[in-house]
Amino acid sequence: MDVRSDRIRESSRAALEDRDLQRALGRAGPLLKSMRNAGMATLDRPEALRERAHAVKRETMARLDEMLTLLESRIKEQGGQVHWARSADEANRVILELARKNRARSVVKGKSMATEEIGVNDALSRSGIDVFETDLGEFIIQLAGEPPSHIAAPAIHKTRQQVSALFARHFGAEPTDSIPEMTRFARRILRERFLAADMGITGVNFAVASTGTIVLFENEGNIRLTTSLPRTHVAVMGMEKVIPTLEDLDVFLRLLGRSATGQKLPSYVSLLNGPRRTGERDGPEAFHLVILDNGRTRILGDPELRETLYCIKCSACLSFCPVYLQIGGHAYGWAYSGPIGSVLTPQLVDRKRACDLPYACTLCGACAEVCPVKIDLPRLMVALRRRYQESPEWPGPSSRVERAGMELYAKALEHPALYRLVSRLARIVQVPFRRGDRLVHLPPPFKGWAAHRAVRPLPPRPFHSRSAGSPGHPEEVEDE
Ligand code: SF4
Repeated sequence: MDVRSDRIRESSRAALEDRDLQRALGRAGPLLKSMRNAGMATLDRPEALRERAHAVKRETMARLDEMLTLLESRIKEQGGQVHWARSADEANRVILELARKNRARSVVKGKSMATEEIGVNDALSRSGIDVFETDLGEFIIQLAGEPPSHIAAPAIHKTRQQVSALFARHFGAEPTDSIPEMTRFARRILRERFLAADMGITGVNFAVASTGTIVLFENEGNIRLTTSLPRTHVAVMGMEKVIPTLEDLDVFLRLLGRSATGQKLPSYVSLLNGPRRTGERDGPEAFHLVILDNGRTRILGDPELRETLYCIKCSACLSFCPVYLQIGGHAYGWAYSGPIGSVLTPQLVDRKRACDLPYACTLCGACAEVCPVKIDLPRLMVALRRRYQESPEWPGPSSRVERAGMELYAKALEHPALYRLVSRLARIVQVPFRRGDRLVHLPPPFKGWAAHRAVRPLPPRPFHSRSAGSPGHPEEVEDE
């Protein structure tokens, strides 16, 4: 029986037909790319910095247990508390318990992918606690009842007209096309929520083990208010977010903002060391760090896929991915989207449910070229596909015909004579489908390939034949 999952195929189709989404993505894609490229161009030796970031992550993962233990003791020394959560449920239970102990009725939140991953908003809301997103993009999508569709720009899929309509529906705001006006309006609402909040929840960009420092990047000042106005601050971090020292932070400081939005530095960088101390005027009375595993230990123990944990959630791979830029984040169906989502999600959740993700990729390699920590995302994608194909109980979402075709192709590549024969046959078979420089009306199983793109015919002479005899190509290859 075929086990093809059509979930992402169906959601992609819907995304491609959504004109508002296409308009929003069409505008945002080139902008995000040019901002990232301009930001990286201001670095002296960007490649060396990316190599350094990769090395720091590799070394940290090799002694993650030691780093996390050090982080825990430094935070405790400074009066903070640390909670370990093996799963999303456990993390939510810890946060809910903290909210109850603090008699929290109202919670403000900063943008955080870890809290999206565990679904903390739902967990708190189900217990009667109001949760308010305070990042402007998150504020918008919370009103829309949607998850974020981009790591750095969660409301990237919304047009300004849609945002205005949301404000009108929820708050009776006057319709407007002016983004500054809408921002001012949101700020007025959010100020009141900050002042009334009992607890603030944020994610963590980096946690410095040697000093017990929680580092948070932002552009709107909302995280500063979330971490300092309410009585209690709870920070939720995936266990891979720890780095050894402040010197290492310098490497990531220079890369993260540039990779996400092209900024040399985000507008606000907060370095937090525990709760407010005697004599200090600002800060929460209590600070709690929730360290989330939720499948990360399993990834750490897998040498082939461990590199997944090097991710600093900058979103550059999304902004450059030709698939993401066509279908947006929601089509992936999980908290993390784009290339990093396609490799991370199947390792975090039940892999059957996310089996289609590693296939939602053209393996073009654009993501690996821009990743600030040089994660080889295409290699990870192929490794996951191979595992799906090899798994007897779950051979992945590809069809029998596709698998048979790939096996035949692999055999042909192993045997040059067979390859030449297949190649000759294909050149003959393609003739009835040729219209100028395109192949059209292809029969199954090739039909889908031609449905949304121009499929070029095979050239009269194959590439290897043309390059035979050229420098560096010593082998005699039959000319066709
Ligand atoms: S995989 Fe690399 S490019 Fe993508 S979000 Fe993570 S760090 Fe950024």
